[in-house]
Amino acid sequence: MAYYLLLALFSGMATLAGGLLYLYSRLRAISMRHTIAFAAGLMLSTVFFEMLPEITLDGFEPLSLALGFFSFYAVEKMTVIHTCGEAECEGHTASKFGMIGLTMDGIVDGAAIATGFLIEPFLGVTIAVAVAAHEVPQGFATGVIMKNAQYSQRTVLLVLIVAAILTPLGALLAPLVPETFFRYILAFVAGTFLYVAAADLLPEAHRLFNWKVVASVMIGATLIPLSGLFGL
Ligand SMILES: [Zn+2]
Repeated sequence: MAYYLLLALFSGMATLAGGLLYLYSRLRAISMRHTIAFAAGLMLSTVFFEMLPEITLDGFEPLSLALGFFSFYAVEKMTVIHTCGEAECEGHTASKFGMIGLTMDGIVDGAAIATGFLIEPFLGVTIAVAVAAHEVPQGFATGVIMKNAQYSQRTVLLVLIVAAILTPLGALLAPLVPETFFRYILAFVAGTFLYVAAADLLPEAHRLFNWKVVASVMIGATLIPLSGLFGL
């Protein structure tokens, strides 16, 4: 099996793990705040230090980048890609639109891992780690929202399993696209990462001011440049 499929499988499992954490542990949503903050820092520095340098090697793709950002903005405003750090996700309902958001996110994440890996293996690994980090709170939030909407444990589990499979599915589909388009895919994903991290995760982690949240963002943000310093 291609390595990037394994990476995507691992990142997809993070969605399931996050959901199971909610369903089968006493963890409340509030304890997800540090994970959310860490994921935001990690995603942003993955964009700044790994993705943007790669995308801009042979010219810049502002259109794909902007499309990624605004399409996730549009979808999120209609859906619940939104990650919840508070005990209740007020105003978020489990809807069919929500499922569209979740599906899009999973496939895009998987496509990013595969194209990143095919361009440069380390890039794929970095993206997979950034995906896994934000998928844990996302799976958790899916659990919170669906349980609040009175869905049965079985239905929630089923949705989580499907969501977990979408990432490897995206990884399987992306390499079917000609290699010349990889840069556009990567630029698009960088746009979605910017949106998810800066407009969704960060505000959610900071609903209440807490220096530990700031520290979590910083730890996530410095990991990527640090790994570069050590020649990884
Ligand atoms: Zn995701």
